[in-house]
Amino acid sequence: MGFIEENLNHVEQRIQAACLRSGRRREDVSLIVVSKTKPVSMIREVYALGPRDFGENRPQELRDKYDVLPDDIRWHMIGNLQRNKVKYVVGRAVMIHSLGSAQLAAQIEKESAQRGLIMPCLVEVNIAKETSKEGIMPEDAVDFIRSISTLEHIRIEGLMTVAPYTENPEENRPCFRALRNLAVDIAHENIDNICMRHLSMGMTGDYEVAVEEGATMIRVGTGILGERDYSI
Ligand SMILES: *Cc1c(COP(=O)(O)O)cnc(C)c1O
Repeated sequence: MGFIEENLNHVEQRIQAACLRSGRRREDVSLIVVSKTKPVSMIREVYALGPRDFGENRPQELRDKYDVLPDDIRWHMIGNLQRNKVKYVVGRAVMIHSLGSAQLAAQIEKESAQRGLIMPCLVEVNIAKETSKEGIMPEDAVDFIRSISTLEHIRIEGLMTVAPYTENPEENRPCFRALRNLAVDIAHENIDNICMRHLSMGMTGDYEVAVEEGATMIRVGTGILGERDYSI
């Protein structure tokens, strides 16, 4: 068994255990394999083992991989997205997890309208209010979502967060819980065209806690594919 298969089995077991502990069903949690910076050959290896959801954070990289890899892969745009790069993502990604500004929403709306499609998006929330992080501040989330809810070619399906880096995943439990509570509050606003079915939260260091706190999508890179080399 290669290291990718071993890692994947390990992660899968841990997701299942977290589901058991929290009374959740395994099929309600999607594992997104974060393949940013990793070669196409490695993605093929993962694909052969079963996963179909992959996450990328650079638009051109997503485009290039989309164009050469099998059609049944579901690509997720998880990273900071500049307006002039939206064109590479709309029509390729099944979901944009990183919607965090009105300007970006306007650009996604325009590209999606041109292509005659509706783009599923998650609103990125800076739940721990870190100055270094992207995303809408939690107290601004309702107004922000209300303001973009009239865009006809965007469908807001939930929230996403990148929790702080920590050695102890328990430290992020309050963040995950806060994101879930925020989604519940937003759902109670009954805003037209908005649903809160997804919570994209949890990475290699803390995905088990995120599952326990209600994540429907976890984004795991290093824990499956190993450390990334950004110099290439
Ligand atoms: C890189 C990245 C991940 C994966 O991080 P790992 O710690 O390698 O699992 C998840 N989410 C986002 C937004 C990322 O940029």
